[in-house]
Amino acid sequence: MIQIKRLPLGPMQTNCYIVMCENTGQTAVIDPSWDGRALAAALTDGGHNLTHILLTHAHFDHVGGLAELKEAFPEIPVYIHPDAAEQLSQAAMQAMFFGMKLIQPPAAEKNLAEGDIIELGDLRLQVFYTPGHAEGHVSFYLPEFNVIFSGDVLFQGSIGRTDLPGGDHSLLIQIIEDKLLTLPDQTHVLSGHGSPTTIGQERQTNPFLQ
Ligand SMILES: [Zn+2]
Ligand SMILES: [Zn+2]
Repeated sequence: MIQIKRLPLGPMQTNCYIVMCENTGQTAVIDPSWDGRALAAALTDGGHNLTHILLTHAHFDHVGGLAELKEAFPEIPVYIHPDAAEQLSQAAMQAMFFGMKLIQPPAAEKNLAEGDIIELGDLRLQVFYTPGHAEGHVSFYLPEFNVIFSGDVLFQGSIGRTDLPGGDHSLLIQIIEDKLLTLPDQTHVLSGHGSPTTIGQERQTNPFLQ
């Protein structure tokens, strides 16, 4: 089975997700958004066997804890879409632009692409390439458990902002319609910010998708 913890962290309350395959203890962190040292301690205390660090995209508020997490787990690879690699290399600069400080994380070791399957113990996460909010944005879909980690693509009642570099509003809408709204209504959407929602709820009530 699966265990998912949602930790809203940092100045933008960016959701970091700890996803564990309960059969094997293998664990992924999706978006180590802030407080990397506390996050590393939570993983160790919780008996997790961290095997993957997955990034939906490289906006600074999603990677603010990455440097310290890597310091604690230097051998665990970081996965990113190659189109987001440049933004990751500028994370500390981005943060400064918003008046915040973060430790510049190292480059990622592994590339993600549309259609990749990430094996996390017995869990299989499908990679969706979902640009529009940011370059190289990806989402992670677990069809067996009706869950998608949507990063900053789709939120409860909203969608990702597209006014930052690499943003493209019409592309984002198209991606949501083609790749997310085609999922079953009961799919749980676990976003980069705010509370969980479902595809069905957003299809019916999200003002940006009417
Ligand atoms: Zn973002
Ligand atoms: Zn965000």
